[in-house]
Amino acid sequence: MIRLHNTLTRRLDDFTPLSSDKVTLYTCGPTVYDDLHVGNWAAYVYWDTLVRTLQIDGYTVDRVMNITDVGHLVSDADEGEDKLEKGARRDGKTAWEIAEYYTQHFLDGMKALNLIPPTHIAKATDYISQQISLLRALKQRGCTYQTSDGIYFDTSTFPRYADFAQLDLSAQKAGARVDANSEKRQPWDFALWKFTEKGKVRDMEWETPADLLDTPPEDNKPVMGFPGWHLECSAIAMSLLGKTIDIHTGGIDHIPVHHTNEIAQSEAATGQRFANFWLHCNHLKINGGKISKSLGNGYTLDDLKQHGFSAMDLRMFILQGHYSNEGNFSFENLQAAHNRLQHWRDVACLRHQVHDRLHSDTENNDLRHDFSPSAAIGAVKEALNDNLETPRALAIVDKALTELDKKPPQKIYRAGLIEFLEFVDAALGLELLDSTPDIDDECKRLLVERRRARDNKNWVNSDELRDELLNEYGVVVKDTAHDTLWAYADEKPE
Ligand code: AMP
Ligand code: ZN
Repeated sequence: MIRLHNTLTRRLDDFTPLSSDKVTLYTCGPTVYDDLHVGNWAAYVYWDTLVRTLQIDGYTVDRVMNITDVGHLVSDADEGEDKLEKGARRDGKTAWEIAEYYTQHFLDGMKALNLIPPTHIAKATDYISQQISLLRALKQRGCTYQTSDGIYFDTSTFPRYADFAQLDLSAQKAGARVDANSEKRQPWDFALWKFTEKGKVRDMEWETPADLLDTPPEDNKPVMGFPGWHLECSAIAMSLLGKTIDIHTGGIDHIPVHHTNEIAQSEAATGQRFANFWLHCNHLKINGGKISKSLGNGYTLDDLKQHGFSAMDLRMFILQGHYSNEGNFSFENLQAAHNRLQHWRDVACLRHQVHDRLHSDTENNDLRHDFSPSAAIGAVKEALNDNLETPRALAIVDKALTELDKKPPQKIYRAGLIEFLEFVDAALGLELLDSTPDIDDECKRLLVERRRARDNKNWVNSDELRDELLNEYGVVVKDTAHDTLWAYADEKPE
């Protein structure tokens, strides 16, 4: 059984889903006005680990992730411009083009990081009618009111509003900005639907259904508008997964506003609990400070590539931290993760160089049981089921692989090594097997030739062959006390 830190209870709770074999999971997706930075990716790598752990535990995971392509304003509290419309102006494109472009980049990044695709990826703009239906349900229950710039959720109709984030609303009231929207009944009421500013045309706008308006427009023209950011997550989650979902994930920044508002509007509409578990990942910092595009430190996967690092290096770096701790990104830390991954890959290469000694094993029990993967697999499972303790899981894998690396190859049980690597790939998604295919016959022939040259003490020829193997095949030769072994060269320039 998996234990998870539930923001709802502020405790580690044993998790059991509503259905015995299926977990419904909702993850707040990215706002697609720019490329994701390493901090954003950290969030998605952690939730991918959650999915992998649940799958290892035998559950089917029905997972939805939204794509915020409309409605997320520059400030999470309904102020400022829509990030998409702003991004469109920056890039000289329409909001639709920007959304399409960065959504594709996001999907490419997910692939590069080996993130398991959610069952549904739902764009907010594809769920306008569901958002309108939810808005209508809230209006019918008397939870909404209209101002000159939109339709708002009246939080006084939801007495538990402050509970989830343990908000001190009286302090918020005292600190409310004077120039903030004075038509709001409470400063923390939030927009469910915003009207397009008078005299403006947005790239993304929809007609506000007349029954949602308290007062019809004087000119009888359609009132154009767009959904508030929070509405999409509730509408998408409930229409695809049901009124109550098992787990909802997001970043800690979502707790006081976005998720508080999701809970208020969902639970006010249905009268049921929206999600049984809420998981939040802490933020990644850079050299101890905030990540922000304006500071020039919002490194994207492309930026990392330019520094010689792969998406898998980043994945390893992220998994080295625990999701609930603040992480610290630096290129030195990324280099350390890269080195660790390189070592794991070297050990993965051993599986092509040891014999499958099933027959001789029966004669020699000592050898057969030299490396049993089951203990290490069990320990990794235990770590992941303990609130996704990835640093501990990685330390266990490290220890097992380092021990293997020290053994004479004839003492490594090939099937056991493969079983372990398959499990590590399933749990941590680091593509150890895919990144270390066997070398081809010509490469093997060169290795044999080099070994012969070495045995004959023909050092010049041996060195030439070593260079050829490196330059032509990207393979490094390692002469150990036991044998000559090969592995893939580190492709990252120093
Ligand atoms: P956004 O595109 O701004 O909606 O953010 C996408 C996801 O990244 C959200 O789940 C945020 O909580 C998360 N996020 C943003 N900044 C960071 C950070 N520095 N570290 C970890 N997660 C972050
Ligand atoms: Zn959301």
